[in-house]
Amino acid sequence: MTPQQTLAYFRSRESQIVDLIRGIVDIESPSHDAAASTRVVDWVESQFKATGADLSIERTRVEDGEHLIIKAYPGEGLHTLLLGHTDTVHPIGTNRKNPTRIEDDKLYGCGIFDMKSGVILMIETLRYFAATNTQPSTPLTIVLSCDEEVGSFTGRPIIEEHARGAVRCLICEPSSHGCVKTARKGTGMFTLRAHGVPAHAGLEPEKGANAVAELARQVESIHAVARPEIGTTVNVTVFRGGTTLNVIPDLAECEIDVRFSQADEAERVTSELRRLKTTDPRVSLELEGEINRPPMERSDAVAALFEKARAAAASFDYDIGEIAVGGGSDGNFVAALGVPVLDGLGITGDGAHRMDEHILISDIAKRAALVTLLLCQ
Ligand SMILES: [Zn+2]
Repeated sequence: MTPQQTLAYFRSRESQIVDLIRGIVDIESPSHDAAASTRVVDWVESQFKATGADLSIERTRVEDGEHLIIKAYPGEGLHTLLLGHTDTVHPIGTNRKNPTRIEDDKLYGCGIFDMKSGVILMIETLRYFAATNTQPSTPLTIVLSCDEEVGSFTGRPIIEEHARGAVRCLICEPSSHGCVKTARKGTGMFTLRAHGVPAHAGLEPEKGANAVAELARQVESIHAVARPEIGTTVNVTVFRGGTTLNVIPDLAECEIDVRFSQADEAERVTSELRRLKTTDPRVSLELEGEINRPPMERSDAVAALFEKARAAAASFDYDIGEIAVGGGSDGNFVAALGVPVLDGLGITGDGAHRMDEHILISDIAKRAALVTLLLCQ
């Protein structure tokens, strides 16, 4: 098969692929909903089996859903890890307000871009190998986790287990304007709580220690931990405090979003947040949370992998760019193990996590051909 023939194969399947994407999107599967997770995983498992490819499937049940592990074309040598997730951020019932639908070249639906259409890309790639009697250049391990959108607390060890010893990792997460992601920032989530002393705001306010006032002063110090010149951002994104108009508040808390490009920033940011001091000694501070995902840095191996993808795309006159982004994904965990990761290989679209989430139908065959050709290298 020439690259043009591979593209033509996927073009000929375009309407069936659209139907499959509609099928998976219509099975709503928000994170933390175990029954919904099982419904979508049942469907995905049956679709993988129907490809006719040489594969075995394992399901790992956790409290909030099921992780799916698929091994295809087993054999000697290092495997390629294909990573994805079956959960979405949209609560059950959202598809009544935002139905799966086609408008011109756009296919809309809840979680379609992030990343249910990416799951279908993997299924279609395996169907291609079976239909054309060809094989990927390495054994494949596919891990589809069920808690990516909420931090991958149970998915992470499974992803890391299957990432060890992988020659590369490809992720069909959303692209950014069609660009493949070769670097992602690391992420951290913290909560800072101020505990003060309550008092009647009219009778004896001087006996109180105002937790809101103290935490408000801390916001500037928190923001000062950022070092945007090297890619570290620190932002207070949620602020809560107080109970009633006439009471000096004894509790306030804020949530802090941390992003960083350099691995060693994790420790600096955490220790500086821990060292924050109150100006009112009667108020105490309590820090909760941690660095959740290490950064995915653009190593030489990542650059080489991108170059292969660019060349594969160019072989059928398709242009792809690359981009570094602030959002984390499960690719961050894999990159931390030294495995080169190419992320954002999903079908071009826009609106992840929003109601106007969509993919471009005209990009489906191109992305499927790109992922397939990459797996043949
Ligand atoms: Zn995603």
